[in-house]
Amino acid sequence: MSEKEIAWDLTEIFLSCEDPEISKTMNALLEKTDEIANQYKGKINKSNFTAQILHDLLEKQEEILAGVEEIQVFSENKFYANTSLPETKAFYNKFMDFKSSILKKLTTLDLEVGKLVDQNPQLIHEDILGNYKNYLEKVMKKFPYKLPEREEQLILEKDQFGANAWQQFRDSWISTKKLKITVEGEEKIISASKFGSLMQDPDRKTRISVFQSYCDLLRRDEEIYSTILRNICGDWVKTSNHRRYESPIHQSLINNETTRDIINNMMRIIEENVEVYQRFLKIKKKLLNLPILGGVDTKVYLPSKKISTWDETKDSIIQVYDMFDKTFGEFAQDIFNRNHIDASAREGKTAMVLSNPWYKGKSSFILTTLKGLLADIVPLTHEVGHGIHFYFSSREQTFFNYMPSFTMMETASIFGELLMTEYLLENTRKSGEKITLLYNQLDRAGTAIFRSSARMWFEQSIYDAIMNGEFLDGKTISKYWCAARDKIYRDSVEWDDESKWEWAGIDQFFFPEIRFYNYPYIYAQLFVYALYRTYKKEGEHFVQKFKSLLSAGGSLSPEELGKIVDLDISNPKFWQLGMKQYEEWVTELEKLIK
Ligand SMILES: [Zn+2]
Repeated sequence: MSEKEIAWDLTEIFLSCEDPEISKTMNALLEKTDEIANQYKGKINKSNFTAQILHDLLEKQEEILAGVEEIQVFSENKFYANTSLPETKAFYNKFMDFKSSILKKLTTLDLEVGKLVDQNPQLIHEDILGNYKNYLEKVMKKFPYKLPEREEQLILEKDQFGANAWQQFRDSWISTKKLKITVEGEEKIISASKFGSLMQDPDRKTRISVFQSYCDLLRRDEEIYSTILRNICGDWVKTSNHRRYESPIHQSLINNETTRDIINNMMRIIEENVEVYQRFLKIKKKLLNLPILGGVDTKVYLPSKKISTWDETKDSIIQVYDMFDKTFGEFAQDIFNRNHIDASAREGKTAMVLSNPWYKGKSSFILTTLKGLLADIVPLTHEVGHGIHFYFSSREQTFFNYMPSFTMMETASIFGELLMTEYLLENTRKSGEKITLLYNQLDRAGTAIFRSSARMWFEQSIYDAIMNGEFLDGKTISKYWCAARDKIYRDSVEWDDESKWEWAGIDQFFFPEIRFYNYPYIYAQLFVYALYRTYKKEGEHFVQKFKSLLSAGGSLSPEELGKIVDLDISNPKFWQLGMKQYEEWVTELEKLIK
């Protein structure tokens, strides 16, 4: 990165962790929460509780939660930018305590509201509640699976020392692990958390050394990882039975506002099109100059050595969005002008790349670490895209409605990636650079579409096995892992035997609170590819519809959002549209490398 430090300015929120405004704000929010808890608790399901009173309650809750989010953005940003500072760590912990005490108080009211709309579904159609229609529908859909308050609290308390503790144990266990690797003939000891980035190392020998050392480490602790996975998944099967969900994925479908049919249609299209991914893997093998593509080569990008300074990066991102639409350009510019991006490398900074929305400020903060290469531009364009989405939705929606659902969250970000890729393709005459650009885009999308599908099938098979009474030891889990993985890679990739332990190193399988983490990424990627195709066909006419979609935030269901841009997600063939786009770019890349 360039000489000057690119750090975000958080003083728009608070001056520092010691700013007295913080305690004042926290106390005021706690007071307000107590106030509404006292005012409404036990009164919500009474006959004199009108739509107007419910509307007022929701408005008050939104005001409190937007205030909590603002402190969260500040404390998270402070912490992520330097996790090694004791004061930011302490402040972050203080915030988490504060947040959980607020949420605990509001949970009781939420349960009462759930019961109210469950018993009086006509309420949702009252004019005065128009703004909260989708929100209340979600509450209503979730309510039948809630347990009585006492049981809910018991589960919460038991999870703290049960499923959540298993996850914590795994996190802290793996974070202490070291890998012994060889880089250019020299032995090195590195922390296991560096695994992901080293698997992208252009030097194959380094990748082999890292991969072997990592899989060996996972194999040695096979007993630990299989015990944890077995218990987290087993716990979820029991809990979802208690809650009367139809299957282990059911809760996730409700949370993501989608249906089993839609997801089945999507997964079927993936299965029918694995061939397209095989074609991409062939290109990968050729471009990496390898006789055989090994498991160690699956995550590597083509290195781009072209330099891009901070100002060039910034200018081209703003320009690309501005060329698409003036308002897009203005929002992107605002993120840069207000110094809402933290881009410099720093000791203690998290490796995460993210866009943190700030509702009250109608803006967003972006965290990334740039290396000063042209290749940095696309990921940063992606994060600015998230920011633009929040700019649109926070201007049009109230707090409960501004956040898009998980499957729609990537809409502006991936779309922005595609705009940038196309812009860079047009502005380079060198065929080598064109190949790199297109290859990296297809590699990213292929990961989201196909690799996530393997993970989705793996999760499904683990639950099926548990429900069939099978005991999941390490070897059995590995067998399911390889079966799901091979559905995607077929014989295009040669895997070492040790690679069967890879599942143990994938964090998402161990998140007790988010089951079936992967399919929303497939959904999002294929949805945006379909969107992009629509844009290419419709041109100008598309832009206004797209802005309406983004402005709607989470106030409509994904299917309704699709309709704004004339896409019918419920059509079984819908997913073919995005897949077609992937295939066309693969064909283009095949031509380029001939
Ligand atoms: Zn994203």
